[in-house]
Amino acid sequence: MRVEDFPEEIRPYLLPQPVGELIYRCLECEETFGIESLLYTCPDCKSVLLIEDLQWEKLKERSGAFWRRLFDYRRMLNIPPLRGIFLFHELIAPVIPLEDVIYLGEGHTPIVRANIALREWAGLDFCFKNDGQNPSASFKDRGMACALSYLNYLVRSQGLTEVLSICASTGDTSAAAALYSSYMSDTVKSAVLLPHKKVTPQQISQPLGSGAQVFEIPGVFDDCMKVVEHLADHYNVALLNSKNAWRIQGQESYSFEVAQSFDYELEGKVVLVPIGNAGNITAVMGGFLKLQDLGVIEKLPRIIGVQSEHADPVYRYYQESDPNKRVFRPVTVRPSVAQAAMIGNPVSMPRVIRLVEAYERVAGSPGVFVVQVSEQEIMDCQLIANRNGHIACTQGGECLAGLRRAREAGIVTAEEVAILDATAHALKFSGFQESYFADELDSAYEVLPKTELRNFPTLVEAPGLKKLPAPGKVLPPDEFKTFVEATAREIARQLGLKEKTAE
Ligand SMILES: *Cc1c(COP(=O)(O)O)cnc(C)c1O
Ligand SMILES: [Zn+2]
Repeated sequence: MRVEDFPEEIRPYLLPQPVGELIYRCLECEETFGIESLLYTCPDCKSVLLIEDLQWEKLKERSGAFWRRLFDYRRMLNIPPLRGIFLFHELIAPVIPLEDVIYLGEGHTPIVRANIALREWAGLDFCFKNDGQNPSASFKDRGMACALSYLNYLVRSQGLTEVLSICASTGDTSAAAALYSSYMSDTVKSAVLLPHKKVTPQQISQPLGSGAQVFEIPGVFDDCMKVVEHLADHYNVALLNSKNAWRIQGQESYSFEVAQSFDYELEGKVVLVPIGNAGNITAVMGGFLKLQDLGVIEKLPRIIGVQSEHADPVYRYYQESDPNKRVFRPVTVRPSVAQAAMIGNPVSMPRVIRLVEAYERVAGSPGVFVVQVSEQEIMDCQLIANRNGHIACTQGGECLAGLRRAREAGIVTAEEVAILDATAHALKFSGFQESYFADELDSAYEVLPKTELRNFPTLVEAPGLKKLPAPGKVLPPDEFKTFVEATAREIARQLGLKEKTAE
């Protein structure tokens, strides 16, 4: 819709101008730092940072109803920088001028309600938000759109050239970083570090296809992360890991979209996210808190983080119910089919601790839970979801497994509605499905395939056929007719089809 066709009172606000006063704040010593230079950890105490808008209170001069209307009207605009996460410009990175926003089609991913069979199986109504329908097929695009838009702004306003973006990743961060960097290929070169043999072939094909330098590092993700941190400390690079606080800002768009999709009515809703490096759950909590503070939503949804038994440091931390006695201990991970969340020492743990406190202050305790699931449940739940119309990755399966656990434990009731984050597209993790079907998953995963969930292609070989078509080889008409009929008959036999009776 054209700007002049919107109601007069909304028009001045449709196209956001750069506003706000953003700073980095250290979560440990609370020191603040300017955003003119890229900063990933506190120069004083080395802790992680979050971005804060010193003019946030100004946004409160407008009512929650105003913001709801503005965001809803903006969805009708056809202006590219406002088609994605920057629809929520004021809440994400209001200092970035629209002209610097990089929009590659991220955000506004579909929310798909589970069918009746699946709802009954889970014990409550729920839906998946298909974040695998982002451009690089995972939610990581949300954060990258923000981080690279900010980098683009810095490049233009400071005349930077030859920027090197770098990240370590369990696969999806690199895919997103390489994709968004490649859009700025005249000024930004991209390098990614991946744990050798710990990402799927689909995931590694992505940064390669985007033209990034891909380095494979022996070990697991946590080892890669240390190498990248060393690089960021000693060389001039733009770090795109979740230490980069701009990514958290962008990922908050997930919560804004969930709220918008339910017309800002979040009473009785519960949001489930898988936890790896814990950037996502940080952003999800942060996003809802912002909406609540602005009066855009009245009620915070409850949050449930999900972890596999094979990589569960956050779960273990919250097992201690007395906050004063909680001690964070990294764990040594074991192989997990939820490979993108296979992290033993989450970078964003200090952020999680801070945000959970803030969330429970507002939502009432307990507003945030962490549940643990088995590898078997993760794999089975992914396959079951996808047999019912979804396109969930293994981490999406982890969410469904978590929902069932939470239901069994009485954490959620049959009256609530759950929103599950299908964080990536099923195709990125199709290798796990393939190994499950073939019963070839390494025993370290501790997953045994269930006969009823396995599936194989069948080669159709009709009996008695001598001549078969092949590429570049056309059969004569009568032989081709024989081939078609015999093959169809064989398929009908295998499917147990009844022949149509003549009238
Ligand atoms: C990164 C990732 C996760 C984990 O998210 P964190 O922010 O690291 O907790 C889960 N699923 C997928 C598909 C991912 O790419
Ligand atoms: Zn500090």
